[in-house]
Amino acid sequence: MTDVRNVIIIGSGPAGYTAALYTARASLNPLVFEGSVTAGGALMNTTEVENFPGFRDGIMGPDLMDNMRAQAERFGAELIPDDIVAVDFSGDVKTVTDSAGKVHKARAIIVTTGSQHRKLNLPNEDQLSGRGVSWCATCDGFFFREHDIAVIGGGDTAMEEATFLSRFASSVKIVHRRDSLRASKAMQERAFADPKISFVWDSEVAEIHGDGKLSGLTLRNTKTGETSELPVTGLFIAIGHDPRTELFKGVLDLDAEGYLKVQAPSTRTNIPGVFAAGDVVDHTYRQAITAAGTGCSAALDAERYLAALT
Ligand code: FAD
Repeated sequence: MTDVRNVIIIGSGPAGYTAALYTARASLNPLVFEGSVTAGGALMNTTEVENFPGFRDGIMGPDLMDNMRAQAERFGAELIPDDIVAVDFSGDVKTVTDSAGKVHKARAIIVTTGSQHRKLNLPNEDQLSGRGVSWCATCDGFFFREHDIAVIGGGDTAMEEATFLSRFASSVKIVHRRDSLRASKAMQERAFADPKISFVWDSEVAEIHGDGKLSGLTLRNTKTGETSELPVTGLFIAIGHDPRTELFKGVLDLDAEGYLKVQAPSTRTNIPGVFAAGDVVDHTYRQAITAAGTGCSAALDAERYLAALT
């Protein structure tokens, strides 16, 4: 079957491009479906990335992704900026269908479709991303020394982000739409004990202000409807992530939160020949370097799987 590829990679981003680089250098001629809207992944939507090793002075997110893409292409990865809309992993030869309805076949598949951070869906939110608005304290906390910051959310992630940010910030206000937290008791206690952290209960963000840079928020009380102004220069939105796994429901094993399950420390899913890497698997770390690392693991796992078939 000459039209059967060795490897198809679904998803771009650090995991997909790293898997493409490794499988290309192993002469497996990978075909990568990058996605139609956000080819390059989450870092296409940010500005400075200071924590990806190898760039002493930092690098802009889109430049980092262009470099990864070009590096994979240099070794022969074929990259298509299109979405996969259907998959069939039932046979030894797996198939994926692109948005034009064309079916592509491969012996091994690597899934790196990432996850989408939940948004407030307010005007200015996207425009001010990387300019005061962030979804990742580990990534951006360092930029917010001596700033007044708001963290939105009431779960473990919001508490963790707030406690981490209090190392840098002058003050951190946790804005939560209810009057009690969902976070675990231990995380709550850590936040309550932190002198830099205070809480704004029963409140949600009504407006995000700033012209090129965040300057403040309008909050709305969820019980009374009253509004108030919160002058902050940092806004961390910690209301959850949705892994992009719609395509794999009923096909691959997912955990309770919808992330793909793998046989860690490998990247094997429940179907032989199908591997998964990056944020579509990862609840915990969600960093470009960890996504790239597991993308490398998926490429090596696929390579070994294919070698065992011959
Ligand atoms: P993603 O980067 O999410 O890429 C997955 C891509 O797959 C999607 O974008 C899409 O193009 C494609 N795709 C999805 N579904 C399909 C489909 N059906 N068919 C084809 N293609 C599909 N991390 C850091 O380490 N440092 C930082 O400074 C940093 N800053 C960040 C700033 C922002 C604003 C955000 C949102 C994240 C940031 N992160 C940062 C986190 C980092 O971007 C992610 O951890 C990383 O991008 C995850 O990589 P991934 O390859 O798993 O997925």
